[in-house]
Amino acid sequence: MTEAAPIRPAELIQRKRDGAELGGDELAELVLAYARGDVPDYQLAAFCMAVYFQGLSTAETFALTDAMVRSGDTIDLGAALGRRVVDKHSTGGVGDKTTLAVGPIVAACGVPFGKMSGRGLGHTGGTLDKLEAIPGFRVELTTEEFVTQVRETGLAIVGQTANLVPADKKLYALRDVTATVDNVSLIAASIMSKKIAAGADAIVLDVKVGDGAFMKSLADAQVLAETMLALGQRAGRDVVCVLTDMDQPLGRAVGNALEVREAIATLRGEGPPDFTELVLDAAAHLLALSDLGIDRAEARRRAELAVADGSATAAYERWIRAQGGDPDEAALPKAPIVREVFASRAGWVQRLAALPVGLAALHLGAGRREKDAPIDHAVGVLCRKKRGDAVELGEPLAVVHARNERTADEAAEDVLAAYELGDEPPRARPIVLDTLG
Ligand code: URA
Repeated sequence: MTEAAPIRPAELIQRKRDGAELGGDELAELVLAYARGDVPDYQLAAFCMAVYFQGLSTAETFALTDAMVRSGDTIDLGAALGRRVVDKHSTGGVGDKTTLAVGPIVAACGVPFGKMSGRGLGHTGGTLDKLEAIPGFRVELTTEEFVTQVRETGLAIVGQTANLVPADKKLYALRDVTATVDNVSLIAASIMSKKIAAGADAIVLDVKVGDGAFMKSLADAQVLAETMLALGQRAGRDVVCVLTDMDQPLGRAVGNALEVREAIATLRGEGPPDFTELVLDAAAHLLALSDLGIDRAEARRRAELAVADGSATAAYERWIRAQGGDPDEAALPKAPIVREVFASRAGWVQRLAALPVGLAALHLGAGRREKDAPIDHAVGVLCRKKRGDAVELGEPLAVVHARNERTADEAAEDVLAAYELGDEPPRARPIVLDTLG
């Protein structure tokens, strides 16, 4: 083992603050020392703020990612299964239940799908929280149970094991409360260190773009995508990045049980058009990167067939039962108050801003305001009308599902304000904006 480089955190903070490029081993030691508890939060917080303003070079971003991977365990799922393993990740958005539908489609097509997912953050929802809306569903499996389930059922989605990239766990919690999340290098290193440590051979990254995403512009999202592609390729992984619209909520449902219902409907072929397109596109990329040896056109055909012939729904039900859950839609929790939000004029929906809808769902109780706070799985918002839809005066635009009258009133007001109605239909914007890799 090589000796760790001796570092003085205050000096590294100062050099980064003044725009210098740090040595890879200095940066690595800073992060590893922080993960060990040898550098305090306040110094790393200052360092992250310096990075926020000065950025990291490519070499520094590589060194940071490598150090994060080295901070904990790595898993070789491919070796454990004797198969090439595929994985997907979204940078986070509003109404993003893509994994819940993509996993069963990929598994129904004969490709093992074992994924470690996260919880919601701010206004963005997390796959684990959505899965916990399903009565009985267990998100915590041991690594052995996880591997066995992927082998036997073809599909498992679990929480990150405690020692997978512990440096990111600590650093992410710190960035979340110090306004240092939205930096390209820090996001790329955070996401790719977890993907590399979790062991997939091929990774599809869904980079969200718009007001409900960390990346607000397509140009910024392209820089993030290129950084993550470079990190993946350097680690010997096949990576594809799809850049997708997050300027309005994905699909219609925002809120945990509501989103599970929408994913189930999509597996039956009855999902909203934008969400269905994204799910089929992501599934086709994953199948084309798998060991099936098929191109993307054939992969797309097989994904569509799995929906049409019911095998995707069957894979969903097998998976949920294997993790202790009840796959019956009727078992999902329902909110006691259901409040419609009406259009105050006729016209076309010009815009349905994602961020206020995400925040309305958060304030209803669908997300956490503080780390580890409990969440209400039943509440949320169903957006009946989306960008480009025609609306009559007094027609319902959305439906709020709430725990009580007060939160229903507040959310209804916020959701109404998220809609902008105009006299002409807006220009169409596709769900997939760009594909790289
Ligand atoms: N998702 C992550 O896992 N990390 C980030 O930094 C941002 C989004």
